[in-house]
Amino acid sequence: MNASTPLIAFDNSYARDLPGTYVLQSPDPAPAPRLLRLNSALAVELGLDATAIAPHAADWFSGTKVPQGALPLAQAYAGHQFGGFSPQLGDGRALLLGEVIDRQGNRRDIALKGAGPTPFSRNGDGRAAIGPVLREYLMGEAMHALGVPTTRALAAVATGAPVYREDVLQGAVLTRVAASHLRVGTFQFFAARGDMARVRALADYTIARHDPDLAGQADRYLALFDRVIARQVQLIAQWMGLGFIHGVMNTDNMTLSGETIDYGPCAFMEGYAPGTVFSSIDHSGRYAYANQPLILGWNLARLAEALLPLFDDDSDKAVDLANARLTAIAGQYAVAWTGVMRQKLGLAGADAGDQALAEGLLTAMAGQGADWTLTFRRLATAVDGDDSRLAPLFADATGLRAWLPQWRARLADDAATRLLAANPAVIPRNHLVEAALDAAQQGDLAPFEAMLAAVTNPFADTAGREVYSLPAPAGLAPHVTYCGT
Ligand code: AMP
Ligand code: MG
Repeated sequence: MNASTPLIAFDNSYARDLPGTYVLQSPDPAPAPRLLRLNSALAVELGLDATAIAPHAADWFSGTKVPQGALPLAQAYAGHQFGGFSPQLGDGRALLLGEVIDRQGNRRDIALKGAGPTPFSRNGDGRAAIGPVLREYLMGEAMHALGVPTTRALAAVATGAPVYREDVLQGAVLTRVAASHLRVGTFQFFAARGDMARVRALADYTIARHDPDLAGQADRYLALFDRVIARQVQLIAQWMGLGFIHGVMNTDNMTLSGETIDYGPCAFMEGYAPGTVFSSIDHSGRYAYANQPLILGWNLARLAEALLPLFDDDSDKAVDLANARLTAIAGQYAVAWTGVMRQKLGLAGADAGDQALAEGLLTAMAGQGADWTLTFRRLATAVDGDDSRLAPLFADATGLRAWLPQWRARLADDAATRLLAANPAVIPRNHLVEAALDAAQQGDLAPFEAMLAAVTNPFADTAGREVYSLPAPAGLAPHVTYCGT
C-alpha cells in the first residue's frame, strides 16, 4: 500500500449531501488513550486492514487524532422521549467521522461516542464511561450474533480522563458502526421547524442509501415509509422472539435502516412476564417488553407526521395515505411475530393456527417463572415426548403439558435441529454482564472477554460454559438498568 493511502478510505456523503443538518465538531483529545478492544472481525468486514490499524486505534478511536479523510460532525435530531417532544436533541456526545464502503458494497457510518461535547450537548458533558461503553459493545455483538440487525462496536478505548456521574468513573469512547444514523428524530427535527426542503433532502438521502431501487419513483416517499415499516416490524418481532427489551424506544432511538441502536438501559428478560421493565427511569412501563410492538406503531406515526407533506400535496389525501399504512402495522407485526415464532417452535410449514399455538405457550409460561431463553432452547429436548428437562423450568407445568401435544403435532421432521438453530443457548445474562463490567472497571477485562466470546457464539452447545446459559440465581434482587449516560 502506498504510504499516502489512508488506512481508512473515508467518504463523507452525509456532510456533502445534507448541509444544514449537522455541525462540524472536532473531538477532544484524550489525555491517556488506551485501547480496550478492537473488533478485528468487523474491521475486516469494513474492508480495513486490522493489523495496520491496530497501532493507531487508541488515538483514532478516542478522538485524540482524527484519521485522514474523516470529517467529524454532530448530527441534528429531535425526538419524542417517553412521549414528550424535545425539538432539539442531536448528537450531544457522538461524532460521525465519515463513512466507508464495506466488503459487501454497503455504506457504513463510523462514529465516536463519548469524545467530548458538541453544540447539542445541552447540560451533558459529551462523555461516556467505561461500563456503558463496554455494555454497548457487548450487547451489539450479542445481537449481531443472534441475527438481529444492529449497530456494532469497532473499538472501545479508555480515555484516561475521569467522568463525573454519581461516582467518579473512568472515561471511555465507543466507536460505533451503523448502516446509517438516520433516526425518526432526524426527520422530526426539520419537520418541527417547517423546513420541508431538508426533510425532503433527508428522505432522498435515505432512499439513495437504503432503498436505491425507489429513486425516481413518483411515490418514492410513501414507498420509503413502507420499507421503514417493514424493516422495523421485522426488527421488533426479532427482539420479542429473543426477550430483548430495548428500554428507551424514543423516536430518536429508532433508525430508518432498521438496525437496533442506542444500547442504554436494554436487557434480556429472564422469567417470562409481559410487563417486564428494567430501566430505572421507565416509571410507567411505557417501554415494557409487551409494549414494544405498540410503541413501534406510535413511533412510526411520528415518522409519518414528519413526512406527511411528501406523501401528497393534498394534505387530506396525505393523511389518508399515512393512516392506511399505520392501521396496517398491527397486522404486519402479527405476521412477522408468527414467522419468528414458527422458527422458534420448529414448526413445519405454515398453518392458520400457528399464532394461537405460539400464544398458547406464552400463556403456559406466564406466571410460572419460566426462563424465556431456556424454555425455547429446551423445546429441542421435548420433541419426542420427554419433558423432564423442560417442565422443571415451570413452577406449575400443567399448562405446558396441555400445550405440548398440540405443538408436537405441528413439528417439522428435523425439528430438534431447527430448534437448536433458532433458539440461543446463550444471551447476555444481566447478572453476568454486570459482573463483567464491574471487573472491567477494576482493570480486569478477562470476564468481559470471556462473556463476549460466549455471547458471540450463542447457538452452540454450552458444554463447559453452562454458567452463561443459566438465569440469575434465585434471591438476587430484580435487575435494574440505568441510562447509559
Ligand atoms: P440517549 O438517551 O442516549 O438516547 O440520548 C438522548 C440525548 O441526550 C441525545 O441527544 C444524546 O446525545 C444526549 N446525551 C446523552 N448523554 C449525554 C452526555 N453525557 N453528554 C451530552 N449529551 C448527552
Ligand atoms: Mg439516543
